[in-house]
Amino acid sequence: MLFSACILLNLSNQSLAQGQKTQEQVNAENRSAKKAESMMHSGKLQDAIFFLNGELAATPRSAILHFELGNAHLRSREFTRAIECYQQAVRLRNPFPEACLNAAYACIDAGMELQAIPWFHKYLRENPNASNAKEVEAELLVAHAKAQMKEKRNFDAKQTLERALQISPNSEIVLFALARVKSELGDTQGAIRAYEDLLQVNPRHSSALLNMAECYQTSGQLLKAVSWLKKYASNNPSAPDIDQIHNMIQALTEKSSEQRSDPQALDYGDAISDAGRFYRWPPNRLPIKVWVSMGDGVPGYKPEFRLGFFDALNAWMKAGQGRLQYVLVNSKEQADLTAEWTGDPHSVKPTGHNVEQGVCLLSTLDRGKDFVEINRADIRILTIDRQTQEPLSDEEMKKTCLHELGHSMGLQGHSTNNHDIMFFSMSNTNWPVLSKRDKATLFMIYQNYQPLMSAQQ
Ligand SMILES: [Zn+2]
Repeated sequence: MLFSACILLNLSNQSLAQGQKTQEQVNAENRSAKKAESMMHSGKLQDAIFFLNGELAATPRSAILHFELGNAHLRSREFTRAIECYQQAVRLRNPFPEACLNAAYACIDAGMELQAIPWFHKYLRENPNASNAKEVEAELLVAHAKAQMKEKRNFDAKQTLERALQISPNSEIVLFALARVKSELGDTQGAIRAYEDLLQVNPRHSSALLNMAECYQTSGQLLKAVSWLKKYASNNPSAPDIDQIHNMIQALTEKSSEQRSDPQALDYGDAISDAGRFYRWPPNRLPIKVWVSMGDGVPGYKPEFRLGFFDALNAWMKAGQGRLQYVLVNSKEQADLTAEWTGDPHSVKPTGHNVEQGVCLLSTLDRGKDFVEINRADIRILTIDRQTQEPLSDEEMKKTCLHELGHSMGLQGHSTNNHDIMFFSMSNTNWPVLSKRDKATLFMIYQNYQPLMSAQQ
């Protein structure tokens, strides 16, 4: 209510003021604008805001001073205020292309992409021949694409961005958004290519350098990830996150020296064996006695999760080609493989430095043979996303079940290929199914066992 009252008041003031400004007043406003700009240039944003509010108290109908106040708020990341100032500037002087465009940028920075779109349209309508018209047209499409990404319409967003790229092939904003959506779609190679194009245009684009490192980390190429992190660190030696970056460089360098597994091999047996020995359920413990909690009273639990768990268990059984089998038992006490649900991230403790959505505790017996016997396995799975605290989607739950069940079947380690379910971090590059390499690795462990039943269940 206050807001609309304020608009009406200023609009009526404007109509009174039309044509009454003297050249002297215009010059004074321009001088004040320049003064505010130089304050902003030297980083004195709060001083500029204070100064501009003072000037506007005396000349409330100055479009240029509202515009400058919008800029000061935008730089202070006070987006709503900035947008209000630009609206006011455009009411007082229409068209006002710079205010129009900055209003669009303020909406985007505020994460309100849909609100930015009419501002972009207005700018293009009023300035069809502007030198930056192509770039703005591309930015308009980026706003569309970002809104689509928020609705999880990533494939549509990718198509929108490809159109934007045709309009403005060297636009950093377009290339960055395209790389992001490709990552979301699991196309890490495509994302890397888009970041490469972007870094051709701007070799110092710091977010691109960091995301490039993340792409290589996701695809298991840790030394390449390290080299991009080093580029970022040398370009931004005083960045606020620089200590964290140096820690990551160290951790990834250490991890890469432990990495034994070739991500392109037919299986990853070398990554999951312990001094050449595998973990496995001994033949006399088959079929495995399984008990799965009903999840009563667990926050975020849905009955679909239990179904996903059995889908995942059946997938591993199938990968064993009849050599593995399970039976359901009625109580936890009778079971050798148990699964429980929890809504508390603290009760799913990280194993080593890998923080997972679940945990699989294995109890083993080493009889000095060529494999280590699994005695029992207890799985605990988190029903909510560790980062966002939102309930897990059925797809993410299926991935988690597949992954933890993989550990429980004896895969005591992680793949370095991000398309495997046993990859070492939750990733959107794998599907909620077993990869060929996952199946081949499980089968390799149990291949000498007698088939208990036909592989077709
Ligand atoms: Zn794991």
